[in-house]
Amino acid sequence: MNAIDELTESFSRLPGIGKKSAGRLVNFILKADTSYVKKFALQLNTLQEKIKPCSVCGTWTEDDPCPICTDTMRDRSIICVVEQPQDVSTIESSHEFNGLFHVLGGVIAPLEGIGPDQLNIKQLIKRITEEKVSEVIIATNPTVEGDTTALYLQRMIAAVSDIKVTRLASGLPVGGDLEYADKLTLARSFRGRTEV
Ligand code: ZN
Repeated sequence: MNAIDELTESFSRLPGIGKKSAGRLVNFILKADTSYVKKFALQLNTLQEKIKPCSVCGTWTEDDPCPICTDTMRDRSIICVVEQPQDVSTIESSHEFNGLFHVLGGVIAPLEGIGPDQLNIKQLIKRITEEKVSEVIIATNPTVEGDTTALYLQRMIAAVSDIKVTRLASGLPVGGDLEYADKLTLARSFRGRTEV
């Protein structure tokens, strides 16, 4: 394999990038400004060193704890539980929620060998029992796995505390990802959340 084939192969491993798009990207890089390419390479090279999961909520952050966890202006009594760090960004951009987050790092998916122990659940229970939390909003995606995980969390929380547990209102596309929900839909989901 020459350098072009190697880079094409690397690009094609990115989500949503097929062989054709990968080839186009390599050609773009070949013709691009050298300083841009150098900067881009450095960004790729240092990303994993710079960014780590927040030790409190699990979202990607450069400073630990993350700016959301340390923000004193936020409502610390509400925790919104999401699947992935990207969901935190999606909800943040809707400006509909001013509480704290907790990132599970996935959903319970027995077929893929992902059980509760592989997810960031123990830390959530710890936060609920040790901090003054009055509500947990479960914002897992409206998929079979997302619903199973929500049910599991609800039971785990009920076993240690009698705080309010809510689920985002439907309105999110069934089987769809939080990632693709528009701001208005997200806002409606937060306002219409129901106790489970
Ligand atoms: Zn955090």
